[in-house]
Amino acid sequence: AKSEGRGRFRFFSEEMNHKILHRVALENALRQGLERGEFFLHYQPQWDLRTNRMVGAEVLLRWQSADFGLMLPSEFISLTEDSGLILGIGEWVLRSACQQARLWARQGHPEFRVAVNVSSKQLKQQDFVAMLNQVILETGVDPKSLELEFTESVIMENAERTIETLEALKDMGVQLSIDDFGTGYSSLNYLKHFPVDRIKIDRSFVADVSRSTDDAAIVEAIITMAQSLSLKVLAEGVENSDQLHHLSQLGCDEVQGFYLAMPMPADALEGSLGREHGR
Ligand code: C2E
Ligand code: CA
Ligand code: CA
Ligand code: CA
Repeated sequence: AKSEGRGRFRFFSEEMNHKILHRVALENALRQGLERGEFFLHYQPQWDLRTNRMVGAEVLLRWQSADFGLMLPSEFISLTEDSGLILGIGEWVLRSACQQARLWARQGHPEFRVAVNVSSKQLKQQDFVAMLNQVILETGVDPKSLELEFTESVIMENAERTIETLEALKDMGVQLSIDDFGTGYSSLNYLKHFPVDRIKIDRSFVADVSRSTDDAAIVEAIITMAQSLSLKVLAEGVENSDQLHHLSQLGCDEVQGFYLAMPMPADALEGSLGREHGR
């Protein structure tokens, strides 16, 4: 029994070793990935439910790694946050997204917005506001066509300081939204202190909105509250027509999800900017 135990221990420690080695390799590959230009962006369309027109797109990071193949954010974002690499990568995402928005504006879509995810590490960065200001100046993008998405937990983490930062961002003219709304524990009352434009209802509530009266009630409550605070509501993760119709009936402003469009390269989206969806 004793040797069995040792065997198990050795097995366990080898597994741990392997995990650590994998982490180190991944971190090195991420470091090089930025220099080698291995990152690229997908854009997932967002539609206005009143006009059915495509009014914006969320920017989603992709990584075509020479060593690991195609990687999704779930496989590497948290590591970039732990290692601080998110700062360089995040700046690259912002600059690229602003360049794209500027290009689309030139092509006749000045109202179209691009929404970029911002992690807590980035928001806490001393010079985040100055960096973004620089990116906006350099790319010549109209700040109102840029939206920044923060999760509830990021916002609530250091509420006092966050309000100041968000106000500085708001003064620059960018739009702000709260991502994954409903999954954190922010008090609804608190929301009125944050200068945000839009709430993104988390897809876990959208999933059962047409089957569960509880989830429908939650979505309805979020929409009612948002309206009373003059915030826009976007529902994410719309995967079928039932969900789309329920959200529409509940007065949701905007939607995003696989049912309407998958995340895709910028040029694949070009022909449909500002157009109506076919659903
Ligand atoms: P998120 O901000 O909630 O982004 C939406 C995620 O849901 C995306 O996954 C998108 O592909 C997926 N999605 C869209 N529509 C549907 C749908 O109808 N059904 C389902 N099941 N999923 C849908 P993705 O691209 O894998 O990104 C995952 C997360 O990684 C994002 O969640 C975001 O938190 C993070 N992320 C992505 N890009 C960036 C980035 O540039 N910077 C930072 N800091 N985080 C990013
Ligand atoms: Ca998001
Ligand atoms: Ca989300
Ligand atoms: Ca998320």
